[in-house]
Amino acid sequence: MADTETAEAGRDFIREIIREDIAAGRCQGVVTRFPPEPNGFLHIGHAKSICLNFGAAQEFAGRCHLRFDDTNPIKEEQAFIDAIQRDVRWLGFDWGEHLYHASDYFEQLYAWAEHLIATGRAYVDDLTPEQMRAMRGTLTEPGQDSPFRGRGVAENLDLFRRMRAGEFPNGARVLRARIDMAAGNINLRDPVLYRILHATHPRTGDAWCIYPTYDFAHGQSDAIEGVTHSLCTLEFEDHRPLYEWLLDSLPADPARARPRQYEFARLNLAYTVLSKRVLTQLVQQGHVRGWDDPRMPTLAGMRRRGVPAAALREFVRRIGVARAYSVVDMAMLDHAVRETLNPVAPRRLAVLHPLRVVIENYPEGDTEILTAANHPDDPDAGTRTITFGRVLYVEREDFMEEPPKKFFRLSPGREVRLRYGYFITCTQVVKDAAGEVVELRCTYDPASRGGNAPDGRRVQATLHWVSAADACPAEIRFYNPLFTRPDPGAEGDVMADLNPDSLEVLTGCLVEPALALAEPGETVQFERTGYFCADPESRPDRLVFNRTVGLRDTWARVQDAGAKAGKPR
Ligand code: ATP
Ligand code: MG
Repeated sequence: MADTETAEAGRDFIREIIREDIAAGRCQGVVTRFPPEPNGFLHIGHAKSICLNFGAAQEFAGRCHLRFDDTNPIKEEQAFIDAIQRDVRWLGFDWGEHLYHASDYFEQLYAWAEHLIATGRAYVDDLTPEQMRAMRGTLTEPGQDSPFRGRGVAENLDLFRRMRAGEFPNGARVLRARIDMAAGNINLRDPVLYRILHATHPRTGDAWCIYPTYDFAHGQSDAIEGVTHSLCTLEFEDHRPLYEWLLDSLPADPARARPRQYEFARLNLAYTVLSKRVLTQLVQQGHVRGWDDPRMPTLAGMRRRGVPAAALREFVRRIGVARAYSVVDMAMLDHAVRETLNPVAPRRLAVLHPLRVVIENYPEGDTEILTAANHPDDPDAGTRTITFGRVLYVEREDFMEEPPKKFFRLSPGREVRLRYGYFITCTQVVKDAAGEVVELRCTYDPASRGGNAPDGRRVQATLHWVSAADACPAEIRFYNPLFTRPDPGAEGDVMADLNPDSLEVLTGCLVEPALALAEPGETVQFERTGYFCADPESRPDRLVFNRTVGLRDTWARVQDAGAKAGKPR
């Protein structure tokens, strides 16, 4: 790893804290964890958390656990568990043998709940959820004690055991911490620790009908695993006092680690929603074609679209880790994608809107094989062959019958270069009955093979093209943001802000034959057009490509302008 990279990685406040903890001997080795709830696919916000947790552990020679926070069987599925593991690995991280589940600890958590009851720190409450909510108070008013708050230890233990035994229906009773109904922090107003849920769990089956809440499972799981730095997003900041209270209330065990929770700001992306609840709705209501739809901000969607994992990691490194709220521009992600792909993506020829070209002085029925470099700056990337012949296709927008001043591409009488091919000159325009251009008649200069005229004659444009002899038809899918406003849902209904034009399907495209072999997940550059990736639905007789990103970079320009104006970046 380059020095600069390490130096950059070390700048955020979390890594600073870890460094100080190590220097002061406050921890023996760093242990972090990434704790997803398996109720959906991972999104780019999770990538930030994954890169932070796994990245910091790597940098400080520690370890990072993957722990499923599987405490709500109603919303959790094995398919999500599998997808999450696949996506973390794809992003480039490895938890080794440290794969855990909150459900691994259900027995231990239960024992600790009994310990809380036995020490007077928890009680069984029979209030309905509505009553409980009504008595919780507000930010400015204290809550009221439940009439069941005074229950004795023996009765609480008996009821809690009967909750576990399945004697009561869902919602009949809960176990609550006995902390302080007047606490300024609402999280400390006797939070619920266990609820009754007669539901089959993906891992523990029907062994349990009571499940711990997130708050009761989280810190304790960290403690069991010896997590030193429990990193989470800022919405959990107000839960930290509860996290601490619960850890303080566990039976004394000097061997157990004392984790500390630190909070950082979530990643927010403009024109995108990073909430699993909304992403689930998009999938369930059919607004997208699935969790891995290339429009989705999920890791699976981005992978399918052709975004390399390295670009995501680089994007996350650049946005950094801080506590301040911010919204990141999509162009910044696109910039990282281009920077990652440009040096490595093989170059290919593809015509999106084909316009037929007949080379009149090329012998009928003849073809020839030309050699094309796979990458202009990398001889090691090798070459491939393409076929030249009498009938070719160029991009419709590369021709204008009456060109304005600054149009240097093909027009009547004008000579241009065909990439890796020859110079051609347009001699005639063929139109259909409606007056639309359907074909160009051209001549080629046989002496310009490879793209240079022996007399040093210059042309102003180089066009991409394919040959009628061997071009393959393809469908190309273009993706626009899923939402029409940078802050979807800011005016209420997030679904009202859906972009009806988020998917544009272009059929009748023609691509060079090398692309028939493209593997899904392999991203190539269509010269002059952008980066594209074969879709898993692509078949030899029906090629399908996803546009990953265009060639034009708005982010670099924004940055340059900022630098010129002397603004901090
Ligand atoms: P959502 O709010 O989308 O439902 P979540 O936070 O409930 O997501 P979890 O599976 O619990 O989803 O998240 C696992 C970890 O990922 C948590 O530690 C959470 O803080 C972190 N995380 C989730 N969203 C983001 C985000 N946008 N930016 C950074 N970290 C995130
Ligand atoms: Mg969560």
